[in-house]
This record gives sequence, C-alpha cells and structure tokens, in this order.
Amino acid sequence: MSDWKPIIGLEIHAELLTKSKMFSDCPVVDSVTAAPNSAVDPVSLGLPGTLPVINMQAVEYAMMVGLALNCEIPPVNQFARKSYFYPDLPKGYQISQYDRPLCINGWVDIELSNGETKRIRIRRAHLEEDTGKLTHMNDDSLVDYNRAGVPLLEIVTEPDIHSAEEAEIYARKLRSILQYLGVNSGDMSKGVLRLEANVSVMHKDDTGFRTRTEVKNLNSIRSLYRSIDYEIARQIKAWENGDGVRQATMGWDENRQRTVVQRYKESADEYRYFPEPDLPILEISREWVEQVRGKLPELPDAKRERFMTEMGLSHYDANIITIEQAVAHYYEDALATGGQAKTTANLLIGNLFGLCNRDGLEREDIPTRISAENLARLAKLVDAGTINKNTAATLVVEMWDTGGDPERIVQEKGMAQVSDTAEVSAAVDEALAAAGDLVARYAAGEDKLFGPIMGKVMGALKGRGNPQVVKELLAQKLEALRNQ
Ligand code: ADP
Ligand code: MG
Repeated sequence: MSDWKPIIGLEIHAELLTKSKMFSDCPVVDSVTAAPNSAVDPVSLGLPGTLPVINMQAVEYAMMVGLALNCEIPPVNQFARKSYFYPDLPKGYQISQYDRPLCINGWVDIELSNGETKRIRIRRAHLEEDTGKLTHMNDDSLVDYNRAGVPLLEIVTEPDIHSAEEAEIYARKLRSILQYLGVNSGDMSKGVLRLEANVSVMHKDDTGFRTRTEVKNLNSIRSLYRSIDYEIARQIKAWENGDGVRQATMGWDENRQRTVVQRYKESADEYRYFPEPDLPILEISREWVEQVRGKLPELPDAKRERFMTEMGLSHYDANIITIEQAVAHYYEDALATGGQAKTTANLLIGNLFGLCNRDGLEREDIPTRISAENLARLAKLVDAGTINKNTAATLVVEMWDTGGDPERIVQEKGMAQVSDTAEVSAAVDEALAAAGDLVARYAAGEDKLFGPIMGKVMGALKGRGNPQVVKELLAQKLEALRNQ
C-alpha cells in the first residue's frame, strides 16, 4: 500500500436555488414534492423555434461561488453546446460552458483530522443546465422534465486529493460554502448536489499519472467515501497482479458496496462542443464582480476564526461547529440567550453530537430535540454549579428524549448538585464506614486510594455531590484518620 499514492479529482454538480430556470422564466420546483412535468415550458422541453435567455440571477449565484472559492472571473465568458442524445435531454444537446467558463483557478482550504490545513485547487466552475429525470420501471421508463433546464454549476478540482477521507472533507466543505452562500440547500437526498470522483493511483517510481476511472452520480458523502476507498484498493490490486486499469465510467452499487463498470472509454468523449449560437457572449464587468464580492456573507473559514478570537474556542471546536451552517446558527442562538461560550460548545460537541450518532440523526436536526434556548439554560445550570458535569450528561439525555426544559427535570428528578456541607459530611461518614478496608489501607499510606474512596462518597450522593465540596471534606476526614 505504501508504494502507492491515490490521485483524486472531484467534480461537483450543484443546482442553484433560483426561482426560474437557466434559460427561461419557467419556475424551478422541488424535485421530490412537485407533480412530474408540472414545471415545464417550451424552452425547457427544447421545442423547435424557442430561444434561450440567460438567467442573470444564476450567473450572479455562480459568481458568488467562484469568488468564495478564490477563483478568477474572466471578463468574457461564453456558453457552448455539448451534443449528446438522451431521453431526458430533449434538445439533443446541453447548453454548458467549454473553453470560456465563468470561474477559473481557485482554491479552497480543508481542515484535515490531524489538525493540518490543506489547499485543494479549483480548476474551474462553469454554468450549465440540468437534464430531466428518468425513472426505469419493469418494462417502461418514465421521464420528468421538471429538472430540465434548472441552473447547474459544475465545480472541478485539480487532482490534489489523496485519500477518501480528504475527498469527504472537501465535499463537506464545499457543501458548507454553498449553504452559507444560500445558493444550494445541500440536500443530497434530493439530488441538488451530486458528486463524481476521478480516481487513479500512482506508484512511488512513476513520473506521471496512470489511467483513471470516473465514478459518477454519487448521491451521498458516504457513497463518495466508500466508492473511492473501494476503487483505490481495486486499482492497486489490478496493477500489482498485472491486469492493469482500463479507463472507464463507473457507478456505485450501494447493495453490493462496490464500483461497477458502466462503459469503457477507448478515447476522449466527443461532444462536438461549439459556441452556442442562440446566446450572446457574456461580458462580466469588473464593477459587477466587485459588487458581488462585497455582498458575500461571512463564510465558514471567517466564522471559525471569529469563534476562536471572540469566544476563545479551540481550532478544533470552532471548526466542527462552523462547518455546518445550521449548527453554527444554533450555537450562536444559544449564546444569544445567555449560554457561556465554552460550556455551551462542550455540551454541543461532547453530548449533543453523540446523541445524533446514537439516534442516526443529522446535526442540523439537533434543534428539533433541544432548543437553543434550553441548551443555554442547561449551560447556565452547569456554570452556576446547580448541577455537576455528571448530572449534566444525564440531564441532557433526558432533555433530548423528552423535550423537557432543564430546570423542571432537575427539580422533578432531584438532580440538583449537593453542596450543603452537613449533607456531604454525612455522606462522607457513611461511605467511610462502608469502605472500611479501603480506608484502613489509605490510612496506612496508599494515597492512590483517594479516588476510589471519593467514588464511594459520590455514589452515596447518587452522583450529585459537588466535587469540590466532597473532595475538601473527604480530604479533611481522611487526614484526621491518618493522624489518629
Ligand atoms: P475531462 O475534461 O475529460 O473530464 P479533466 O482532465 O478535465 O478531464 O479532469 C476531470 C477531473 O479529473 C478533474 O477533477 C481532474 O482533477 C481529475 N483528474 C485528471 N487526471 C486525473 C488522474 N490521473 N487521476 C485522478 N483524477 C484525475
Ligand atoms: Mg468530466
């Protein structure tokens, strides 16, 4: 394995959240809830005699993405016809961009799990129109043209990605940027964001790239990760046993968890691109570019840095909170209602993320379980010393499962922390009496038994003891025993 280095380039197709389609005023509708073929017009059906008109909102959204990805926006760009036939492409060609794309030469930084930052270069991002959707039945195929003509941005990286994990982190980062910009919902289950991975492997003695395969239509980040991982292992094995790798377009078989060849490519695709004769060249003034740049919202990297400087969060904590916009908003809402920054972050990362995993929920679903306000109230109970950290962990599960508010649960379940000296003192005596052997050994010099004895006291207080008070009183009493 160590002789081989994976080489990966990703292509991401993102639908843009415009009201109307890329080349007409036909409305864009939700692909899951809208009735099939309820949002079609002569342009999106490609009827003869119709003419496309460029949707300037789509151009502006695409520019926002390009600028957020540190791309250049060339002054002149142009649409081109990409000819191919498919039943979901009624014109027989797709209007795309070819040699004059809207955005070129950008980059995005990703945060690796070892704490390092890595730069992934963006080769280009260009505008095109989406195709319709085919559904294959037993004997028939159904076609829905609602999606035909929806603005689509294709974002292409250089082959700078070297593992499935890096690909996953890049895809999450890109989705995050699109969501922060408000140009795409990021909802992969609805197909508004689709991934394609180009994968090859390089031997340590190679001087150039080897043949790559292209895994298309990945509709979840999990399948992106799995398919890349699978493809890397398959290719290394194929090179090592002498079979070699053939250039191919592949799909991901979810059931069998493996890539499958869809077609072999003997040579480059021949789409017969030529400049779209029905559209003018699109000139982008420098003023427009600067105007759009000025309107960009705070992006994940900037938010992360702000959370670090303003709230004193660690790089790791700030990153994991800001990478999903919904989580960042939730956290900010909790602080706005009085949660202390660090305590709130600890509860969010240390407890709520774990409960998401337990229940198979997305992190953006957290507010449906515990409101931002209740999280802030919980943080306040911790900071005020009303409950200790152990209790907080129990309480948060109770809040998550029942939707109850923290003070009420604390009261009903008697979870409040015990700081009263008399009550703690009684518990200490009780525990010391019950743990006679441990106590005798401690008195004889075994210092390390302090912890276990303290555990007994906490047990006697049902885990609700104020650790400071317990520790102090216990130390006093044990000291007295030693000096007897
Ligand atoms: P095409 O135009 O035929 O789609 P490109 O050369 O433009 O091919 O590359 C498409 C994608 O494939 C890009 O994301 C690029 O980074 C990636 N890529 C190119 N060569 C390789 C390779 N040898 N291994 C992995 N990915 C590659
Ligand atoms: Mg391609």
